[in-house]
Formats: sequence, C-alpha cells, structure tokens
Amino acid sequence: RQQLFETLIDLPAETLDHREVTIAANVGSVADMDNALAKGCKGVGLFRTEFVFMEAKSFPGEEEQFSIYKKVIEKCGGELCVIRTIDIGGDKPLSYFDFGKEDNPFLGWRAIRMCLANPDVFIIQLKAILRAAKFGRAGVMLPMVTSVSEVKTAKQYVETARRQLEEAGMEYGDIQIGIMVETPAAVLMAPALARECDFFSIGTNDLVQYIMAADRGNAKISYLYDYFNPAVLRAIKMVADAAHDAGIWVGMCGEMAGDIDATELLVAIGIDELSMNASSILEIKNKVRHIKVNGDLLSAALKMTDPTEVREYLSNKW
Ligand code: PEP
Ligand code: MG
Repeated sequence: RQQLFETLIDLPAETLDHREVTIAANVGSVADMDNALAKGCKGVGLFRTEFVFMEAKSFPGEEEQFSIYKKVIEKCGGELCVIRTIDIGGDKPLSYFDFGKEDNPFLGWRAIRMCLANPDVFIIQLKAILRAAKFGRAGVMLPMVTSVSEVKTAKQYVETARRQLEEAGMEYGDIQIGIMVETPAAVLMAPALARECDFFSIGTNDLVQYIMAADRGNAKISYLYDYFNPAVLRAIKMVADAAHDAGIWVGMCGEMAGDIDATELLVAIGIDELSMNASSILEIKNKVRHIKVNGDLLSAALKMTDPTEVREYLSNKW
C-alpha cells in the first residue's frame, strides 16, 4: 500500500471529474517541511509559527524569524506558503511571557488578541514575513479571528510593517492576507470577513471545540468533540459558500482535512485546499483521485442530525 502511494507523489490531486484540490502541508519547522516535500505536498497551508516562539528563550528577533520563514517559503518552490501569525496562549504558553492567570485560557487572551495588544511583537513578525515573501509566494494568516475590526486593525499593522521596511530601504514581497475560521463568530460573519480577506482556512480543531462548547482535550466529552457533528458540517458549508460568493479561496487546516472519511464530503462542499500533516498526504491524494464531486452525498450528509449516522454513512462509502 505504501509503495502504491509513493507512485502518487508527483501526480496531481484531481478527482475523476477533474476538480483539482490543493494538498498542502501543516508544518511547524523546516524539518517538517522536508518531510512534507518528500510526500509531494503542494505548498504549505499552515505554518504554525508559535513553535518557533515556544522553542526560543525570548521573543525571536526579525532576522531569526526571517531566515526560518525564508527557508520554508523557498522550499515551497513557487507554491503558496501560508504563515500563521503566532497562535499563542490557550494551551500554548511562552516561558518568557506572562499571560496572567485566566480561568478560561481557551476563551482568553490568545492569538490575534494578544498580537493586537502587543503591536511591537506583531510588527516584527509581519516584517520578517514580508521580507521572506520576496523569495517565493507567501500568505499571512490570522488565528482566532472573531470580528471584521480585528482583521482591519491587523491589516493596518501590515501597512505599518511595510512602511517601516520601506523607510529602512529593505526589500519585501507581496502577500495574501487571510484568516483562520475557527470561531462561531467568524462563521456567522464569514460574508463580511470574506470582503477583507484573500482566503479563508477552516480550523476544525478549534471550531469544533467552540461550536460544541466541548474542550478539545477532555476525554469525558469526546463524544461531543466530533467534526462530523451536523452543526459543524453546516458551519463548514456556510464558510465555503461565503468564501466562494466573495470570490476567494477556502482551505481547511484542522485534523478533519487529513481524515480519509471526510474527503469526499469536503470536496463536495468545494474546499479548495486541504492542508495536513505529512503522514496523511498520499492517502488523501489517493482518495481524491478515486472520487467525483458528489452532490448527492453532500445533501444526504447535510440532512442528517446525528454525528454517528454521518460517520457511518461516510465511512461506508470507501
Ligand atoms: C485548528 O484550530 O484547527 C488549527 C489548525 O489550529 P491549531 O490546531 O494549531 O489550534
Ligand atoms: Mg486553532
């Protein structure tokens, strides 16, 4: 089976009826990127830059960040590299930064919220990404967005970063600007958010947690934490439709993107890019190459009210 998959490395992820799906990689380091390239990923759909910050002893400077982002962008070889700005806080602490005590860290001061409150940290990262963008195709992705105003403010900081580079006579490249859709507020505001963005990427890991009000790490309620819950499927459909109505592309970078039982449904919903860990890439590509865009499957799944029913229906299809 492994050998069969290896013959797929250089083939496109295209359905039998010729819908191409971009299969990109989730990475947290240059080493992850090498693993994903060996499986034939097409660019990066999620670079979790917080790992760069978590491994450091203090906030990494612009040069240090620049050299890491540049390496990963160059390795993408002309495919898009989506770099997520630090998604810190919640379950991801920094040894050198005090978030203060929070009763509900997952509902707390994290990700874009922390960045907008610390523009100096945010702008250094944006400058590093803008400079690295000169060496390929890059996107900036904002995590945990809940409102249009967060995106507008973040875009002003991108402008500030550009201006500072300009004034310093430094070179920089073009970037796409997009958001993670991983909060219910972002789902509900998707049509308005899409007008501010070049792309969306659906983060099912958090989206499921927030839609279902179920902690992603609590085993007692894992029966609720299920991306096949019809509430989650409807949210995904709404987000994909809002993106396409606004003429932007939509990806998915949560764990659901790498689940072979979800592929046919996600392709039917119209997800343009599936981004996943290196280990899933060939299996998902193989699946894409054996299916068609299946509208009947989509409407059947969307009519279901029980996650177990959805799961059984989808897994029996393969
Ligand atoms: C997600 O929430 O789905 C996601 C991809 O981000 P993370 O798992 O890093 O929170
Ligand atoms: Mg997340």
